[in-house]
Amino acid sequence: MIDNLISVIEKFGTDDKCRATLVRLKWPKGIECPRCKSAKISRISEREMYDCDSCRYQFSVTAGSIFHDSHLPLTKWFFATYVMCESKKGVSANQLKRMLGISYKTAWYLCHRIRKAMTEVLPQPVWGKGATAEMDESYVGGKKRHVDSGYPGNKTVILGALERGEVSQIRLRVEKSKKRGDKRILHGFVAETTKPDTSKVYTDDNPGYLGIADADTEHQSVDHSVEERVGGDIHTNGIDGVWSLFKRSIVGSYHQVSAKHLDSYLDEFEWRLNQRGNPYLFRDTLIRMLSSPKMEFKELIEKGA
Ligand SMILES: [Zn+2]
Repeated sequence: MIDNLISVIEKFGTDDKCRATLVRLKWPKGIECPRCKSAKISRISEREMYDCDSCRYQFSVTAGSIFHDSHLPLTKWFFATYVMCESKKGVSANQLKRMLGISYKTAWYLCHRIRKAMTEVLPQPVWGKGATAEMDESYVGGKKRHVDSGYPGNKTVILGALERGEVSQIRLRVEKSKKRGDKRILHGFVAETTKPDTSKVYTDDNPGYLGIADADTEHQSVDHSVEERVGGDIHTNGIDGVWSLFKRSIVGSYHQVSAKHLDSYLDEFEWRLNQRGNPYLFRDTLIRMLSSPKMEFKELIEKGA
């Protein structure tokens, strides 16, 4: 288990050590040809490649993965991944640029690739019978002068759901439409995050949530504007806490997140929060990076354009 920066430096201080780790993670039962699955493999050591004795296919441990075609040393990839896994509030491309001695563009591209691997497979709705979920919306970015702070204006709407529990899980999503309280959107988000038999759903007082209650689901609304809480079990304090943590990360680490890339920051934030009890987060992220398809720089800058 990698639990501090010193062990990262000790264990992954050279590209050879990093590559050997990737080989073990990718092929725990021994190197196998990706094309014909043969285990008869020769190593072409001078090029960090493998050659299949059966079909003569040549491959590397990083081919086709998120590491594909990167000129960045693996040590820098590993370090950046560790820092991204460990920083509760996230790391900006500018911070990584300084930490790793790389250009801003390289750091920015690196962050996006690691983030993509982290969030590639988001879990399906799991909350069902016995679960209590909190749902709420929040608004980020696009500050307008002389406008009441509650006015959505050009802010981006984000939707959030939290399942209460010892290790509560969250789901967050950017909503492209700015229609606050749209019933179709909010009902869609409820369906996306919770199973139909989820026992209790507590939301804000947005009328768009009306109608989500049924025979096996109790729905209660919480009026944010009322200081005095209903008390007891009925509140949305959990998801409110998630919003303030997310906003602190935007202010504290990312400074400004363009609306275009907000969803990937949100995915990263969600994933890290849901993984907070996982002692093998760094290793699991590396495994995801090996199985995530490559992402071209072009693809990233065109995103959402
Ligand atoms: Zn082969």
